[in-house]
Amino acid sequence: MQSKFFIYAAIALLISSASAAPKSSTASAADAPSSSVASVTSAAPATTTPTSGSFTFKNTYPSAVGPLPVDPEWLKLVNFTQVPGAPYKLQAGVGPVNPTPGQNTYCSWTFTQCIRPDDITFCPTKGDWGLTYDDGPSQFSPKLYDFLDTLNQKVTLYLIGSNVIQYPDLVQRAFKAGHHIAIHTWTHSYLTTLSNEQIIAEFKWTERAIKEVIGVSPRYVRPPYGDVDDRVRNIAHQLGFVVNIWNKDTLDWSLAESKTFQAAWIDNNVTAWIAEAPNATTGSISLEHDIYSPTVDVAIKILPILKNTFNVVPVPVCLKDQTPYKEAVTYSLSGNGPAPAAASSGSSGNATATGGSPGPVSVAAASAGSAVPSASVNSTTKPSAASTSFDTKTMVMGVAAVMLSLAVVGF
Ligand SMILES: [Zn+2]
Repeated sequence: MQSKFFIYAAIALLISSASAAPKSSTASAADAPSSSVASVTSAAPATTTPTSGSFTFKNTYPSAVGPLPVDPEWLKLVNFTQVPGAPYKLQAGVGPVNPTPGQNTYCSWTFTQCIRPDDITFCPTKGDWGLTYDDGPSQFSPKLYDFLDTLNQKVTLYLIGSNVIQYPDLVQRAFKAGHHIAIHTWTHSYLTTLSNEQIIAEFKWTERAIKEVIGVSPRYVRPPYGDVDDRVRNIAHQLGFVVNIWNKDTLDWSLAESKTFQAAWIDNNVTAWIAEAPNATTGSISLEHDIYSPTVDVAIKILPILKNTFNVVPVPVCLKDQTPYKEAVTYSLSGNGPAPAAASSGSSGNATATGGSPGPVSVAAASAGSAVPSASVNSTTKPSAASTSFDTKTMVMGVAAVMLSLAVVGF
């Protein structure tokens, strides 16, 4: 079994080094301008006033498919002369491709897992475990939220903006429960393949929707697939955001996207992480998803196991960051989240906490330099999850890898 997995993993890595296809990429040729300063400044009207749930939106929002309209006011927030001219790396129907194989001038995490000192990739304190769930809210989120409630467990939720307007009641529930709410873009596209303006729109539309629903603006953003380079980082920072990746990937997404993936491999990963814990020098941040039923089920299965070994907390808690929102809302480091006063604004859409600039990034821990943190370098001697630490590595790659691996092992 393991030998077959090794072949799978090796081939998957080989393929992933060349390309990575999106789960639901919406990047189109229209998103592939030059890498220079903003040229698209028009703001096409947002098209939809969401009506889902009991929450009544005042704003209108775009569809889940880009390119997105851009509010000209957002463009004023970014000094485009400071944005690195990293070349776009879009291969239609595939995703990012490295225009300079063998080189990584712009510190792309996708191609080499390169990080910068202000990237958040792990919890600094040994024994801490930053628990994150991406891609929600979804129809399956309540099951996860219910379970978290039973454990009084708070987590970080990286929300897709177009899902926020579908499930505003769930966002309010999560915030009121004390979970840390963060941004995972609007269309779940590969950000390094988008124009500067579209990157801004991905972040700001999601921020706007979350602000309307819970009254606060998240400071933490997670690029889908971990697809970040210096251009994306610079734009995120100028908009007042900090970038959070991860260093432990459960590969839970494979349960839904690969018919050959076996749930036991996730168990093996968890077992390996626990075995490695005594020798770890830092804590971890893990990646899971609440967008699929199987991933919610596995999340519920492994959380008690993780809690037996690790101090499982939302990411700001392990970073001792009391300002994960742009507004003056103090986040409790007890793991119970913020006093959710702002969430009680209901359908008013107005924050009760206003003003304030993004606080300093209290992420001294993420000062691992440009090297990959030790905790993210996973052994290749076992089916360790993070050997392919991409957010949702896609059916295309997975199916191709499996087919090749089956051919190699003689299936
Ligand atoms: Zn995602």
